[in-house]
Amino acid sequence: MMNEDVVVTCPSCTAPIRRTDLVGVERGLEVFRCPSCGYLQHLEAAYAPPPAHSAIADELLVVIRWSGTSPSNREAAAMRKFLPNFQQLPLVEIAKSIVGPEFVVGKFPQFEAEELAKLGRTFGLDVVLR
Ligand SMILES: [Zn+2]
Repeated sequence: MMNEDVVVTCPSCTAPIRRTDLVGVERGLEVFRCPSCGYLQHLEAAYAPPPAHSAIADELLVVIRWSGTSPSNREAAAMRKFLPNFQQLPLVEIAKSIVGPEFVVGKFPQFEAEELAKLGRTFGLDVVLR
């Protein structure tokens, strides 16, 4: 337990070098000074932050494709079950509000997108993720 913060063993004198021996950062490398012999050990920074774009890269577009050029009555009815904003609308209004061969639900984190796709498919919709 006492050695938990040991970063590396000094290559010069084999004494343990700890996080508390950090003396600075040089060009992305952490510099540790051996408490025993003063050897300067350069190491890759252990706690580099993850790339900023990683969260966005995991987002997926949830898209519903119709069997025809617009939703059929069956598909419009499924939409009403699937998406809360459509629940109060009559089928004709839903069909009218959707133009084109597909409907983009939106962009969601990967896990949420997969859950939405699964739910949509239980209503018989052709849900794809991009
Ligand atoms: Zn040393």
